[in-house]
Amino acid sequence: MLRANDHGSVTHPRRRDATRKLPYDFPEMFRRLRRATKSYTPAAMFQLKEEGYDSLFEILVACIISIRTFEEVTLPVSRNLFAHARKPSEMAKLSAHEIDELIHKCTFHGPKSRTIHSIAQRVANEFGDALPCDFDLLKSFPGVGPKCANLALGVTCDEPHGVAVDIHVHRVTNRWGLVKANDPEKARVQLEEELPKRYWIEINKLLVPFGKFICTARKPKCSTCPLLPYCRQVGVKDPE
Ligand code: SF4
Repeated sequence: MLRANDHGSVTHPRRRDATRKLPYDFPEMFRRLRRATKSYTPAAMFQLKEEGYDSLFEILVACIISIRTFEEVTLPVSRNLFAHARKPSEMAKLSAHEIDELIHKCTFHGPKSRTIHSIAQRVANEFGDALPCDFDLLKSFPGVGPKCANLALGVTCDEPHGVAVDIHVHRVTNRWGLVKANDPEKARVQLEEELPKRYWIEINKLLVPFGKFICTARKPKCSTCPLLPYCRQVGVKDPE
């Protein structure tokens, strides 16, 4: 049922007037996000790290596997590949075709297998298996964009070089009204201006499960959402 607010305009009962929203309070918002997501599986790269796949090389490879691939596929495919090779020198001994067979359940497995193989060869040859925590180096690898470079550095090097913006971070922060960006790269730039650096890694960790289970693409669960007092609900048309 729709009802009139104090100004006489009509609002949806699950949608608060944007003018009455609280100012962004990041410590409190992140406290609420941590509580809201603690029972869900963490974002894939953080989950792999918890399982012991905690080298920069492994997380970079898993991030390449994850591109345009569901998390439910990324996790088993990454584990399957790492069961055969974890270090760059081990991965480089596999052929691109063998890597392709191991990761064939992810999207674009052919090009990804060639990318992973060439990165493994270069790291093994140039760095003796120890991939340095260097954003420019990671970005110099073919097939590695700012999202994977930032995410891999953030997860394994504790280095908040930049915010890793995936579809969930992009959608949720636009709905909050914190950014106004029609593509992830613009969202990354705006987030890095708005968000204190200490949240640059954690925002990806929290907003992936938050976006999958609470602030969902269709019918976000606004009526029970702990972020509702801060969220401007930009573009939200069908909240639950
Ligand atoms: S679920 Fe609704 S209130 Fe919560 S963050 Fe998403 S759009 Fe905002």
